[in-house]
Amino acid sequence: MPDIVPICRRFVLVLLVAGCMPAVLPAAAQQPNIVVVLVDDMGAMDTSVPFLAGPTGTPKKYPLNHFYRTPNMERLAARGVRFGQFCAMSVCSPSRVSLLTGQNAARHRVTNWIDPNGDNRGTNGPADWNWAGLKPGDVTLPSLLQKAGYRTLHVGKGHLGPQGKPGANPLNVGFDTNVGGGPFGQPGSYFAQHGYGKLAGNKANAVPGLDKYHGTNTFLTDALTLEANRLVSEAVAEKKPFYLNLWHYAVHAPFQADPRFEEKYQGSDKPLPSRVRAFATLVEGMDKSLGDLMDHLEKLGVADNTLVFFLGDNGSDAPWGDHQAVACSAPLRGGKGSQYEGGTRVPFIAAWLKANLDNPAQKALPIAPGTWQPQQAAIQDLFPTVLELTNTANPQGHVVDGRGLKTLLKAEPDPARPERFLMHYPHAPHQCDYFTTWRDGDWKVIYHYFPGKSSGGSHYQLFNLKEDPFEQSDLAKTSPVELKRLMSGLVAALEAHNAAYPVDQPGGKALKPVVP
Ligand code: CA
Repeated sequence: MPDIVPICRRFVLVLLVAGCMPAVLPAAAQQPNIVVVLVDDMGAMDTSVPFLAGPTGTPKKYPLNHFYRTPNMERLAARGVRFGQFCAMSVCSPSRVSLLTGQNAARHRVTNWIDPNGDNRGTNGPADWNWAGLKPGDVTLPSLLQKAGYRTLHVGKGHLGPQGKPGANPLNVGFDTNVGGGPFGQPGSYFAQHGYGKLAGNKANAVPGLDKYHGTNTFLTDALTLEANRLVSEAVAEKKPFYLNLWHYAVHAPFQADPRFEEKYQGSDKPLPSRVRAFATLVEGMDKSLGDLMDHLEKLGVADNTLVFFLGDNGSDAPWGDHQAVACSAPLRGGKGSQYEGGTRVPFIAAWLKANLDNPAQKALPIAPGTWQPQQAAIQDLFPTVLELTNTANPQGHVVDGRGLKTLLKAEPDPARPERFLMHYPHAPHQCDYFTTWRDGDWKVIYHYFPGKSSGGSHYQLFNLKEDPFEQSDLAKTSPVELKRLMSGLVAALEAHNAAYPVDQPGGKALKPVVP
């Protein structure tokens, strides 16, 4: 397949010569900057911005939205569109690889969180899952943008490959710089006094590249923000477009309180558990970082040419109680790792930082400020969206499961887009073990390969999300026609993605879901 980018540019030149203004971007020098702020373990409810619809279909504030304080997310949401049904995978590494490759985890086969020390498939997990993670030569968003002339900057948590494998370092999968990324999923410590784990705490998870802050009072979230701002300044000085991952360790455990915000969550007639208060400070510290980044990009004069995607990597891990129940993601059921909506629903905002209708990139991808998109989308959709915006070709042979968000970002309905989502977790142990879920329209089925307590002993759970968005009424026994239809869809989706299945015993044969 020929490289279509130079061809596009020649085509644009011809149009310009002819006096026509094309709808695509005119030249590399004006390529938009892309920022992906990914917050670890932030679910849809861990914010003062409402991401759930109420009964009328418009955003509604629930009690958790009144507890958390995220004024800068509110500021970003006012400039762009936020989604009411945005899904990620239920744990860290699968989502991260989906974002970078545009593929569902069932296809790229990084279906579990990556253990830095090796293969953690679980007793009945598939031997052919991708426990080594990303490797050099894999098609990734930063590797494509790097070839297209972008500075590709990674700051924060990576978790894309285990220790001793190339994916442990973001530099091996398309990034020009890496500050803070390693094979592990949580920091050794959030405190500079601990050297972020190098001097105290969990030393195996010492966050690299931040030695200059050791011994100061700089909380990890702030150190990463300062580094992101520094790298962005360098790219702007070089007149290079940039792609920035600001992938926070916050708000993942360990729940160490961010001292800058601790006082706000202290006083109450009914004192909250210290872990909950610490979690809330991690959320607010992350939000402060977003504000600092927005301010910095405005000062650099690149706000109108910078597109920000803000999202979480899996459902909430807030320490409010049972992750199978209505608790940390209330009113949604479940949290990180679970088979319920609270396991996969995350906040999502997309915004140009400053509206400018004359900016060619904004013309190519208009985003309606202060708007709400109720339609479902997922983390793998960012890949095709960014490729289209930047006129970057997807290499032949690389299957993309995500669908471009151009219509949805305008806050318009996209009737051609199927309301479907596949979530495949053929591993253990986690909040729920060995399961696949399949959403199709109003219905969602959960298949349990080894039925246990969390499934009521059944292979199947079935919910009508339109009538029962918080998954309280299991209809698997009373709606056999819908169960059969949804299970047929689930089986077909797994086959279409070439998924790896759990096995009946270690070294045994693959267990494929059964349509009842
Ligand atoms: Ca995570």
